[in-house]
Amino acid sequence: MNSTYRGRFAPSPTGPLHFGSLVAAVASYLDARSRGGEWLVRIEDLDPPRVVRGAADEILRALEACGMQWDGAIICQSARFDAYHAALHRLRALGKVYPCACSRREIGDSAVSGIEGPVYPGTCRNGIADGKVARAQRIDTRGASIAFDDAVQGRIQQNLETDIGDFVQYRADHVFAYQLAVAVDDAGQGITDIVRGADLLDSTPRQIYLQQLLGFPTPRYAHVPVAVNAAGEKLSKQTRAAAIDAQRPLPALLAALHFLGQNPPRDLGTANIAALWDWAIANWNIEHVPRCRAMERREA
Ligand code: GLU
Repeated sequence: MNSTYRGRFAPSPTGPLHFGSLVAAVASYLDARSRGGEWLVRIEDLDPPRVVRGAADEILRALEACGMQWDGAIICQSARFDAYHAALHRLRALGKVYPCACSRREIGDSAVSGIEGPVYPGTCRNGIADGKVARAQRIDTRGASIAFDDAVQGRIQQNLETDIGDFVQYRADHVFAYQLAVAVDDAGQGITDIVRGADLLDSTPRQIYLQQLLGFPTPRYAHVPVAVNAAGEKLSKQTRAAAIDAQRPLPALLAALHFLGQNPPRDLGTANIAALWDWAIANWNIEHVPRCRAMERREA
């Protein structure tokens, strides 16, 4: 086992494993295994209203049916609030986190648009106006210019203050923000390589900024294209993506390999799962992954 590589798959248990999430699982699994690395699974059940009962188990059973074996214990974000709390406390002690009393509407009214919608104009950076109460906690992004080299998407550069704005760390509904939780968990689990869908590419500079402030190492990143339907929508529960058939996972696995540009031989379609993984691990080449953020699912 090569202990210098540790990858992970971090599904949100909002529904069963579908083709879109399978692609991220397969890419991270192959990148890890082809380099003799470990592959961990983390259940991102951070946001209670989005969690669907039984979905985490269903995802794990589907991974097993696909023949994907994880290393070590599975961690769940719902059991990690102390770690997120400690990180938030450190950011506050650094003077980087501040309470914000602005409503979504107030921000929408006054903000200019960035990469992901309204850029928070920093209204509460110097304190909350009299008579207002803190809703969320935000991080000061002034001066944060972040760049990294993605193994699939190339060089990515963001000026967090103008592209994103002071982003939330702790939400008004008392939920730790995804960006904070992921930065804390990736460091806590010693993740060296993150391979995931390109829908998260624009989040990565925020996570790197948090890693830098918290003194965590920055992993290597590779963002593979996300699978979209003919209308250009990401496959997800909302777009009614079909669950992977755990009784018959081979066609979906083959389709995922095609999607990732891996060109599996024709006879792999009639092989068993073990033979598929033997071929895929031996032949995984990240250079063949299409260098785009989204791609329509092609049938194998
Ligand atoms: N939980 C996220 C998702 O399912 C993935 C987070 C990550 O890989 O960093 O979209």
